[in-house]
Amino acid sequence: MKIIMLGAPGAGKGTQAKMIAEKFGIPHISTGDIFRANIKNGTELGAKAKEYMDQGLLVPDELTCDLVVDRIQQEDCKKGYILDGFPRTIPQAEALDAALTKLGENIDFAINVEVPDENIVRRMGGRRACVSCGATYHVVYNAPAKENVCDACGAELILRDDDKPETVQKRLSVYHEQTQPLIDYYTKKGVIAEVDGTIDMQDVFAAICKILGE
Ligand code: ADP
Ligand code: AMP
Repeated sequence: MKIIMLGAPGAGKGTQAKMIAEKFGIPHISTGDIFRANIKNGTELGAKAKEYMDQGLLVPDELTCDLVVDRIQQEDCKKGYILDGFPRTIPQAEALDAALTKLGENIDFAINVEVPDENIVRRMGGRRACVSCGATYHVVYNAPAKENVCDACGAELILRDDDKPETVQKRLSVYHEQTQPLIDYYTKKGVIAEVDGTIDMQDVFAAICKILGE
């Protein structure tokens, strides 16, 4: 099963993608996580990506597409995968399509998690990310057992630099301009499915499982 998660930054794509990946035993591929791991490891890609991420801008397509096209051809992707945060532009979607055509494959579902902008701003301010394993929490909606400590690995939880309010506004406008057109793109392909992302995360998950036929 090959799934794409669509939605604004903070809509809950990562939260749901992790649960789906676990349930279906497929890899969760998050370009945001890949860039953050590169930043942490001090790679050249990380340094380039950080310049854009800190400003709330998208990392250029030429730094992003090949990375994903390589990743989806690895052995663990044979049974399928869930893409979270990619594609984010029409050229990225076209690059993915070109690669899939070559492989004789196709996307089964593009799930759009819908959350209005005003909820997003509230959510991002409360998001906390683990500096070590990348697990994500929310101070109100998904709090860790101990404040600012990751349940999964015990490392520190932080507010991401790009979750500060001024950067969130920029990311939302970039989303509407460059990423939202993908809803039409995947609607035309007949693979779009919409879910209400404002409800409790377990209920969002139940709605997605129904779409996936589980
Ligand atoms: P994305 O991957 O789309 O950027 P996340 O999955 O990181 O978004 O979610 C953004 C924030 O909102 C996180 O702090 C997460 O814990 C919280 N969150 C996710 N889904 C819900 C939900 N259904 N209700 C309330 N908060 C949520
Ligand atoms: P995310 O963790 O998905 O919210 O991504 C964090 C940031 O990484 C985004 O705001 C972008 O700057 C960058 N990024 C992640 N995925 C992509 C992508 N597919 N294309 C361009 N930039 C991306």
